[in-house]
Amino acid sequence: MPVSPTDAFATRAIHAGQEPDQRTGAMAVPIYQTSTFAMDEVGVMKAGYDYSRAGNPTRTALQIALASLEGGRHAHAFASGMAAIDCLLRTVLRPGDHIILPADGYGGTYRMIDQFGVPWGISCTTVALDDLAAVRAAITPRTRLIWCETPTNPLLGVSDIEALAEIAHAAGAQLAVDNTFASPYLQTPLSLGADVVMHSTTKYLGGHSDVIGGALVTSDEELAEAFTAFITTVGSGAAPFDAWLTLRGVKTLALRMERHCDNAERIAELLVSLPKVARVHYPGLPDDPGHTVAAKQMRGFGGMVSFTVVGGEEEAVKVCSRTRLFTLAESLGGVESLIEHPHLMTHASVADSVTAVPPDLIRLSVGLEDADDLAADLADALS
Ligand SMILES: *Cc1c(COP(=O)(O)O)cnc(C)c1O
Repeated sequence: MPVSPTDAFATRAIHAGQEPDQRTGAMAVPIYQTSTFAMDEVGVMKAGYDYSRAGNPTRTALQIALASLEGGRHAHAFASGMAAIDCLLRTVLRPGDHIILPADGYGGTYRMIDQFGVPWGISCTTVALDDLAAVRAAITPRTRLIWCETPTNPLLGVSDIEALAEIAHAAGAQLAVDNTFASPYLQTPLSLGADVVMHSTTKYLGGHSDVIGGALVTSDEELAEAFTAFITTVGSGAAPFDAWLTLRGVKTLALRMERHCDNAERIAELLVSLPKVARVHYPGLPDDPGHTVAAKQMRGFGGMVSFTVVGGEEEAVKVCSRTRLFTLAESLGGVESLIEHPHLMTHASVADSVTAVPPDLIRLSVGLEDADDLAADLADALS
């Protein structure tokens, strides 16, 4: 192993799980596009693989890299972020169990519990996770999991991972953190006491808007074994080519996140100065309610910014179609800047639920274009 756990993040991102191929010397990890693997004898695998539903060397390479970057012992790569959440919920929760969800979080997570968990006997309470007293009050004797997302999608709310881990563990529950918005470059929840980290690798880890994927990372052996059994049974693991694309993105994560943070900070400061903007949500702003906790647990403040406009929903919708470089689209975390209206787009399915988002809110995924060009584009759209 040429890479050590003490190597810096940028080094591990390029080398962990990515040694040159032993047989051919290929620098890039091969795409093992195969369903099955030849055996030498009955029951004796050549390299630990028998069938790609259970495991595939390209997926393994990505998993080694992700485990290294999150500082966990085991990573599992999935076909999507939602497939990762599904695996975690179905391996941890049993009928009668209770889960605490963030009041302001990814709509799909809430929808999964509401539509598929509740009919199977799971109960759920949504709480603003920055209110630790409210989290303590929501704990029941059957609480098995606190689901944390920080910063949240789309309001960029920040919650204290260390404090939530303490509350969960005191109650005999576990803490899972959706680390999609921060990426492991900016925040490593396992080092703050979380039991498992979840990613939509579709976003910053992949980073190029060309692949859907998800991951779970943990150092808990029991959880890791359950995830392996689940993937082997269900087949929701990442396909070889998808794992390869994600791994290619991971190599440049450190560089990309630095620029995402710089560009987003510039855009947040610009938005604060514009009269058409009512309120800016960005944990990097010194007067943002999440700033202190974010500064404590994050290396930078990320590439996501959201804001409300003067003129309500109608004006917010208009602004979304007035930008030239910020493309009107769902998703986030790619090299290109995106703009969207959460109430009518990404969060439309939770519009009537407790996790509804303000109708005058606009969400930006600030990409890697030139910061002056991005600032001029937004200033024009909001003039
Ligand atoms: C996109 C996203 C997900 C879901 O991931 P998919 O890869 O789309 O399945 C979960 N959580 C957050 C915070 C996300 O942004």
